[in-house]
Amino acid sequence: MPRQGIALVLSAPSGAGKTTLVQRLLRAFPLLGYSVSCTTRLPRQGEVDGKDYIFISREEFEQRRAEGYFAEWAEVHGNLYGTPLAPVKEKLRLGQDLLFDIDVQGAAQLKLSLTEAVFVFILPPGMTELERRLRNRGLDDEKTIERRLANARQEILEARWYDALVVNDNLDVAYDELRSVFVAASLAPDRNPDLSETVLRG
Ligand code: ADP
Ligand code: 5GP
Repeated sequence: MPRQGIALVLSAPSGAGKTTLVQRLLRAFPLLGYSVSCTTRLPRQGEVDGKDYIFISREEFEQRRAEGYFAEWAEVHGNLYGTPLAPVKEKLRLGQDLLFDIDVQGAAQLKLSLTEAVFVFILPPGMTELERRLRNRGLDDEKTIERRLANARQEILEARWYDALVVNDNLDVAYDELRSVFVAASLAPDRNPDLSETVLRG
């Protein structure tokens, strides 16, 4: 039996640098899979359907939700987001490590159902810098930025129940810390059940 894959769940207020860190981690660990969520949000420029998100209508989302299609779901910044349950279960069962990029409401739901998951919260160094990053990114209009900043204050209060907090001030330091959490999870004895016997035989 392959060992169960690691579920690495990342949350952060919008603009904290989660996408930047996630892309770096996925490049460094080609075997680490990404849990592709469904969303009712419109695609941003450059986003690919089926790779970044599965883009669906609100009606379709609600239908899938009623059918129990999602491991968790939440409304974030006025859009619905959800993690498809079946592919996640199957991939983890086959031993594939999976990264989840989900908000605090969804992470709280997974904490109850995926009890062995590792939860990491990425914090900005401060609210002024968070606002600067959201504006510099140039993806959102003024109303959206204000909504995201207001939500950020609520989300940051939830960080205390996560397993690890990473402050993304210097990007290299933050990446190193995130990478360390993932590597540490992969070194746990229950991820390497035959290791002691192998060493004793050798
Ligand atoms: P998120 O996915 O959390 O919304 P992004 O990864 O899109 O955030 O980052 C938001 C903006 O901040 C982007 O323009 C990104 O290049 C920039 N950024 C990310 N990390 C840092 C950092 N450590 N220092 C300065 N700017 C950063
Ligand atoms: P964005 O629209 O900027 O891609 O994402 C907005 C927020 O939705 C982010 O905090 C992101 O982590 C969260 N999100 C993305 N996918 C999911 C999901 O499947 N479930 C939940 N609960 N949140 C998600």
